Amino acid sequence: DVRHGPILYLEDVSVSFDGFRAINNLNLTIDDGELRCIIGPNGAGKTTMMDIITGKTRPDKGQVWFGSKHNLLRLSEPEIASLGIGRKFQKPTVFEELTVIENLELAMAADKRVLPTLTARLSPAQRDRIHEVVALIGLRSAAHELAGILSHGQKQWLEIGMLLMQRPRLLLVDEPVAGMTEQEMELTAELLTKLAGKGKQSVVVVEHDMGFVRSIARKVTVLHQGSVLAEGTMDQVSNDPRVVEVYLGE
Ligand code: ADP
Repeated sequence: DVRHGPILYLEDVSVSFDGFRAINNLNLTIDDGELRCIIGPNGAGKTTMMDIITGKTRPDKGQVWFGSKHNLLRLSEPEIASLGIGRKFQKPTVFEELTVIENLELAMAADKRVLPTLTARLSPAQRDRIHEVVALIGLRSAAHELAGILSHGQKQWLEIGMLLMQRPRLLLVDEPVAGMTEQEMELTAELLTKLAGKGKQSVVVVEHDMGFVRSIARKVTVLHQGSVLAEGTMDQVSNDPRVVEVYLGE
């Protein structure tokens, strides 16, 4: 049961590209409701790790479990997504010619062709969910604006909101604050912190901005050469001599 024990479990996972081991005996456990940051120098394997979790890349060996029931290596990419694993890529991809609300409505619909008639057909529960998410992502006052006129930060929050419409159990977020202002970064930290929790989502964030990581993370995993180099609080890992060495070498 996903509600007890880890929500995500990678054991001894390896993958090579043309003989180069991008992921090398990686072990990672994410607890239910946890907010985890993954850091590591360029080429450490962070993107490949996310690709393995979502089924985009298949490991050569190892185990990947979602809760205790779902062996992700047996499932296709869409099947993994439908279990409740949502991924937010670095670049926001919202529908600029639609309003904030319409973007969320579209994200809720399984069939993307229904938009013209969708608004009229939403159930009260679906409307409630949309308004709950609009408030959560801080876009209530922009709810009827076109997504195209939103700031970069607001677009990123809208895309997180779109993922939330499917009520994911696990959100994978790739460099959420790249290109954001200080104030947008603070709001993003608040949002991600609010999203994580038991009975809500587990959130895994890959991020380069150390100040941001320090502001949100309870636990940080440092990847290096496809394996876990260190794990702990930001203070613990940033004082680890092996971590310092890897970052100085960049
Ligand atoms: P990070 O996201 O931490 O910067 P990546 O996961 O993108 O690291 O890459 C890890 C290593 O694997 C890098 O050396 C990269 O060049 C290599 N790599 C990633 N994807 C591929 C691929 N499809 N083909 C060949 N090499 C790849």
